[in-house]
Amino acid sequence: MHRPPVRICSLYPELLNIYGDRGNVITMVQRARWHNLEPIVAEVALGAPVDFAACDLLLIGGGQDREQKILVNDFAARGPDLAAAIQDGLAMLAICGAYQLMGRHYLTADGENLPGLGIFDAWTEASKDRMIGNVVVETELLGAARTVVGFENHSGKTYLGPGARPLGRVLKGHGNNGQDGREGLVYRNAVGTYLHGSLLPKNPQLADWLLQRALDRRYGGAIQLGRLDDEFEERAHAAVVRQVLGKS
Ligand code: GLN
Repeated sequence: MHRPPVRICSLYPELLNIYGDRGNVITMVQRARWHNLEPIVAEVALGAPVDFAACDLLLIGGGQDREQKILVNDFAARGPDLAAAIQDGLAMLAICGAYQLMGRHYLTADGENLPGLGIFDAWTEASKDRMIGNVVVETELLGAARTVVGFENHSGKTYLGPGARPLGRVLKGHGNNGQDGREGLVYRNAVGTYLHGSLLPKNPQLADWLLQRALDRRYGGAIQLGRLDDEFEERAHAAVVRQVLGKS
């Protein structure tokens, strides 16, 4: 049987894999197979070429300030190409340190101003708080009042510009800045979030949202994902919600 290809690009996997964010790539590969697609993974290292226009789904993990400083210039140089692909509907998931650099800038604790790509209407400033712990976010992205669960650990506080759309509202945890109750950002088919976990294994609906967006751009609506049997994934998700929100 012919399996339509889906091209997954993992950017800087050697640098951005904090809390096993690589699990997002593994999840997308496995779910693509279960959906009878043919996942093709390209791992793109610092300095290596990549054609974002030919990529269907871009995954970028999180990293500390140290890694962000190593890659910031390389990432900035890719800005125009990435911005064009995202305008064109490229599906993307950027976690924590990568999420921060998708915004306008990140002002670090030692006063360095790391330039962001400015694709997300947001900016980040280091703070004295370390925002750490399990998070439950309520989002409308996946239908009425769905939750997304994950784990955050950051001191950067991210603020959204007036037109920016958050991923959701924090039910428990700090989210973007611990002040305004918002978590993450969604722009076109690109999602930025502070949530590690890794995120996608416990949030199968978000994984399929990204995959469907990737397919829509590549195949123009000709492929509609069916529902997988996500019993175990949903049980893992529900267990986190119960534990974090303290509901029985
Ligand atoms: N610079 C980030 C911070 O705010 C890095 C955090 C992360 O990727 N977990 O701490």
